[in-house]
Amino acid sequence: MAKRDYYEVLGVAKGASEDELKKAYRKLAMKYHPDRNPDNKEAEEKFKEVKEAYETLSDSSKRQAYDRFGHAGVDPNQGMGGMGGMGGAGSFGDMFGDIFGDIFGAAGRRSAGPQVYRGADLKYSLEITLEQAANGYDTEIRIPSYEECGTCHGTGAKPGTEPITCRTCNGTGQEFIQQGFFRVQQTCHTCHGTGKEIKEPCSTCHGEGRIRKTKTLAVKIPAGIDDGMRIRSAGDGEPGINGGPPGDLYVEVRLKKHPIFERDGEDLHCEVPLPFTTAALGGTLEVPTLGGKGEISIPEGTQTGKTFRLRGKGIKGVRSGVAGDLYCHVFIETPVKLTSKQKELLKELQNSLSEDSGKHSPQNKSFADKVKDFFS
Ligand SMILES: [Zn+2]
Ligand SMILES: [Zn+2]
Repeated sequence: MAKRDYYEVLGVAKGASEDELKKAYRKLAMKYHPDRNPDNKEAEEKFKEVKEAYETLSDSSKRQAYDRFGHAGVDPNQGMGGMGGMGGAGSFGDMFGDIFGDIFGAAGRRSAGPQVYRGADLKYSLEITLEQAANGYDTEIRIPSYEECGTCHGTGAKPGTEPITCRTCNGTGQEFIQQGFFRVQQTCHTCHGTGKEIKEPCSTCHGEGRIRKTKTLAVKIPAGIDDGMRIRSAGDGEPGINGGPPGDLYVEVRLKKHPIFERDGEDLHCEVPLPFTTAALGGTLEVPTLGGKGEISIPEGTQTGKTFRLRGKGIKGVRSGVAGDLYCHVFIETPVKLTSKQKELLKELQNSLSEDSGKHSPQNKSFADKVKDFFS
């Protein structure tokens, strides 16, 4: 669409004085201002057009360039930026000042009125047992939430009073600060972006318009989840500001230490004591698994530190869906509190073994040889 001539847009003659421009602009800006024409696209377009025309013609150097080169001389998309950036309902007068000086302007703004902000995300740390992680776990958690203050009905103002349009930002929720040559836009420090100022805050909610509560939320922990994994609950974070969307809630899972098993991804590890007679003679050893009792067969002459793997007795991964393995690390337990009869039997065994110690204790034999070499 071809751009209309700026003078035509403002309805003034080519040689119009600054005063005439200003008057024409003021009249048209009032007429098409979005606050007076809510949800009227056509008015919004007209308002932008008028604003752009005035921005150019009210600046003498830009006006000169425009008079000589037309629209090509003053590309509003370069430098001047500012579409939108509309003032609030308060004072149109201010719009002739600072707002038009801003160069980054309201480039990022999409609509009139105060900015909307997405609420903050919340994090909740949930401690669960290994069994709960392995099998999946449905629980309820209590999280902070907000509800509208009943005293002020959400306005934040003391009953009988009304919030007023913020005087710092004229209700836009944004203010402009000078940084070197540039004016930059930032959230209004007075109203924190709400566009409203509360002179007498409601004593129930201290001007917040909402009251902190807790709510109960059902949480489904999928089977196989591991320490540090997070579950997102969309929209259960803090509420947005000025009608912005709420943040999300992240439930971060923490695994409690288990008395028997240690988890390593989808695998489990445990240490199991092995009677020295079973270690020597071989046999079966009962071992714990997450699903109940298991059994491993111990070969004759098993040493401490030997690891036995039970396939598929680990944890089914939350993503892979494949079960890991259980590793049983055995250590040989020396018998204690022996009766004199038992001691006698052991001494008899000891005597018998020492007749050919090299054969029955090969490690002891090779170690003794090393020590001998070391001292010689
Ligand atoms: Zn209140
Ligand atoms: Zn403000």
